[in-house]
Amino acid sequence: MAELSTDVRYIKGIGETRANALARLDIFTLRDLISYFPRDYEDRTLMRPIRELMPGENACVRAMLATDPISVRVRSGRVLVKARAVDESGSLDLIFFNKEYVKNSLHRGDTYIFYGRVEGDLLRRSMANPLIEKEGQQQLTGHIMPLYPLTAGVSQLLLTKAIRQGLDAIRDLMPDVLPEEVRQAHSLCYVNYAYENVHFPGSPEELEVARRRLVFEELFLLTCGLRGLRQRRRDVAGPVCETVDMAAFYKALPFPLTGAQKRSIEDALADMCSGRPMNRLCQGDVGSGKTMVAAACVYFGVKNGWQTALMAPTEILARQHYQNLAPLFENFGIRCALLTGSTPAKTRRALLQQLETGEIDLCIGTHALLTEDVQYARLGLVITDEQHRFGVNQRAALSAKAENPHMLVLSATPIPRTLALIIYGDLDVSVIDELPPGRQQVDTFAVDEHYRTRLNAFIRKQVSAGRQVYIVCSMVTENEESSDERKAVTAYAEKLQKEVFPDLRVSFLHGKMKPKEKEAVMAAFTARESDILVSTTVIEVGVDVPNATLMVVENAERFGLSQLHQLRGRVGRGGAKSYCVLVSDHPNEETRERLKVLTQTNDGFKISEEDLRLRGPGDFFGQRQHGLPALKIADLSCDMRLLKEAQQAAEELMDRDPALLLPSHRPLRERIARLFSVSADMLN
Ligand code: ADP
Ligand code: MG
Repeated sequence: MAELSTDVRYIKGIGETRANALARLDIFTLRDLISYFPRDYEDRTLMRPIRELMPGENACVRAMLATDPISVRVRSGRVLVKARAVDESGSLDLIFFNKEYVKNSLHRGDTYIFYGRVEGDLLRRSMANPLIEKEGQQQLTGHIMPLYPLTAGVSQLLLTKAIRQGLDAIRDLMPDVLPEEVRQAHSLCYVNYAYENVHFPGSPEELEVARRRLVFEELFLLTCGLRGLRQRRRDVAGPVCETVDMAAFYKALPFPLTGAQKRSIEDALADMCSGRPMNRLCQGDVGSGKTMVAAACVYFGVKNGWQTALMAPTEILARQHYQNLAPLFENFGIRCALLTGSTPAKTRRALLQQLETGEIDLCIGTHALLTEDVQYARLGLVITDEQHRFGVNQRAALSAKAENPHMLVLSATPIPRTLALIIYGDLDVSVIDELPPGRQQVDTFAVDEHYRTRLNAFIRKQVSAGRQVYIVCSMVTENEESSDERKAVTAYAEKLQKEVFPDLRVSFLHGKMKPKEKEAVMAAFTARESDILVSTTVIEVGVDVPNATLMVVENAERFGLSQLHQLRGRVGRGGAKSYCVLVSDHPNEETRERLKVLTQTNDGFKISEEDLRLRGPGDFFGQRQHGLPALKIADLSCDMRLLKEAQQAAEELMDRDPALLLPSHRPLRERIARLFSVSADMLN
């Protein structure tokens, strides 16, 4: 008897080798197998007259074999089998490569279903290696066929057959994790129907009914699980803090904080005093002043006797934080240190020692902070800047250096709230929705190559006014595979220097440079020793050079809107009027249209919503970095309404039964426990 947890080798035709191949798709058990959903479908119910076939499309035809199949040996030594099939509308050439055996199953005068890609031209159509089935014995034609994501050693046919068997084997074993009243209240189909029809739908309508139920279920489970994580956090103690008079700190700042900054700080300090570990995301557009929120928390933590670690994604950014914060904190006798990959061994040893004895209060650094030998005397607060650059693993590794420390995460990627809840899981969220006063809008233009001459003149004009310019280029080689950011940047910088701006000072920066080199380039740019900095997106994150007033982005269509908005945030940081020019010569008008959004608004939240609408949440969900169960079927770019519905249903249910202890909630509880077994370790 098969069970959900039965090994996939149970399926006829799946042995060791195929099981290993399936393992690459994370399919180990029958449950995994039937939860491996199609990425798309192809309607093979329709039989098409041969005369209507267009070269390039996939199609099914019902046709009679009009010739005997013949073998032809070609020069390479390979064998071709050729035949011709006809229906009442026309004829179709059939060609089979290296499949001499098809001769045995093709007989002149018999009628077959052929399925394949149409080739040739309108006068003479052909199919190479089509699928052949007999009418009445159709498996891969005559249905709406699921198309699964594949890997080496796993074909559509293999998966289709295996899933068919899997469904038959455990048809009646699927527990329904959705409580009956939820299922009914939201008009969702039964679980068996859903699995059957998501794989093998009889019609587009059946597919929709099935998919809707599974998407709802997935989002419902996710919401329940997240709420469970939040509840669990309420049960552990955080580093103890008491109220501190912050007046001295605020007085030491060169500017008054904005209302939004103050609110975020209040949120965070309240968390730190709550007795529970803080787990807060502070979200604010580029330039909104998140660093000061972090600094206030550092001050507060240190006054309470705790050490703080502040982790930034790049060396440049870590150094910049250190340069900004260390002088401020030293006024208060708070001892700061910088630890990065390029810290010399000797300095590093001394520094580690001081961290361990507690002589250092604030350690700012990069991933280098995560190394095992970095130990703290009393780490109480962990801050990660630009969280989206870090995986949950790294965040967890840092917080593992203490027992349930307070955590503050800073992010400039404004994420619609519903999504933030999923991506950042169990984090509380503060939003800095106000920029410091006097901040200017960055005037943004989307242009094509026709503007090149004018653009160059504009660059010149900025430089002669004493300003500086960033030029960001993506990898522009023809072949994506072999593209190399170093070459792209250096070649472009060289060209600009030699051919376009021989009299200006052009420097460049890319991710492959050594930290020391990067630092030197940045320092020189900050010191106005260079007029134009050509760079990859390494400057996207946090870099602050107020004298830079123009940001040019080449091949702008290659970037997401949110990312462009981040890049644009590198200018407009001083008092002077600033500009952003997005250059795109993409032939697709829609692609270029997309860039217009940036010319119309400076509101990061609006932009990210637009990004979400246009590109889907793929960007936000990059690399499964959030550590939550991956979404297998829900697509948050189009299932947002269902998400809200599922979230509401989950909250209602858990208000009534917070630990899901009712007998009717048992399947739900068990499924969540399994789904979140990894995340629970990682997120807390
Ligand atoms: P981000 O949110 O992008 O990390 P930063 O913290 O780097 O923003 O702040 C951007 C700039 O704004 C910095 O130069 C900072 O000194 C300045 N700044 C921050 N808060 C204020 C404020 N309340 N008033 C004026 N300037 C501020
Ligand atoms: Mg920042």
